Amino acid sequence: MRIGYGNDIHRLEEGRKLILGGVEIPFERGSVGHSDGDALLHAVTDAILGALALGDIGTHFPDNDERWKGADSSQFLSEAGRLAKERGFEVVNVDSTISIERPKLRPFIDEMRGNIAGALGVEIGTVNVKAKTSEGLGEIGNGLAVKAEAVVLLDSKDD
Ligand code: MG
Repeated sequence: MRIGYGNDIHRLEEGRKLILGGVEIPFERGSVGHSDGDALLHAVTDAILGALALGDIGTHFPDNDERWKGADSSQFLSEAGRLAKERGFEVVNVDSTISIERPKLRPFIDEMRGNIAGALGVEIGTVNVKAKTSEGLGEIGNGLAVKAEAVVLLDSKDD
């Protein structure tokens, strides 16, 4: 078995879309990034690449590459899932936490879980997404950033 961890943080600014777990969330600010700025999918992608000892998202999808400008981050996650499969691993489970002060994410959580499960070709019961505030503290608490963290467990399909 292999365990992997990933995290990601993006600044929040006006005039950008807020996309988390592949869901566009109505809000007055959105995440700044070269791709669609989806901190959750970036964290989960990094967790899978980490479990595989294959570096990180920046190695595979450099942010100076025009191909990934405004890219749908689900393709990064799908590629990480493909790399796992190619090496004989299946995703046992994914757990993740988004830290954002506003808006409330509860109504969108199941859609995020479905998107992650879909990109990885696993059951939705394999994927957990939590959301919490930072109690008004720091850059997240002041609404300047969104952060996501994820852990993933992979198991070799042969045993
Ligand atoms: Mg990112």
